[in-house]
Amino acid sequence: MPELRDLYQELIIDHGRRPRNFGALADANHKAEGFNPLCGDRITLFVKTRDGVIEDVRFEGTGCAISTASASLMSEALKGKTEAQAQALFDGFHALVTGQGAAEEAPLGKLEVLAGVAEFPARVKCATLAWHTLLAALRDQSVPVTTERDEQEGAEPPPAADG
Ligand code: ZN
Repeated sequence: MPELRDLYQELIIDHGRRPRNFGALADANHKAEGFNPLCGDRITLFVKTRDGVIEDVRFEGTGCAISTASASLMSEALKGKTEAQAQALFDGFHALVTGQGAAEEAPLGKLEVLAGVAEFPARVKCATLAWHTLLAALRDQSVPVTTERDEQEGAEPPPAADG
């Protein structure tokens, strides 16, 4: 469906250029930093929760269009969600961008525009950086998140999965 694909691309470009919820959040009660050294993406994520519900999410940072668009779309998707729902969204989103297919029990809505990332394994970390940083923030993890924990420098890309 090339038309849907074009629409997705436009949304990604739009969020990449004009990220929503960009900037610091003064009354955040959770905060974490993330870094994707493969691409150079950096993010500082601010989360305000109340009684287990995410009331507000904002972020700062610099990165490629995919990482910025993903953080922007994530910030929109999370407002009003419980922490458990946020974790479910993370799981569904991670499955989507790593090509494992979207889980039907966790509708992803607009986040599905990033499904095409699954075709570009090098960009998966760009798309998931904000989400890993979110989980770190909710857990009050003070050590900055890096997407390179279990990667080897200069490692061969994994062979493409067939089917
Ligand atoms: Zn990137």
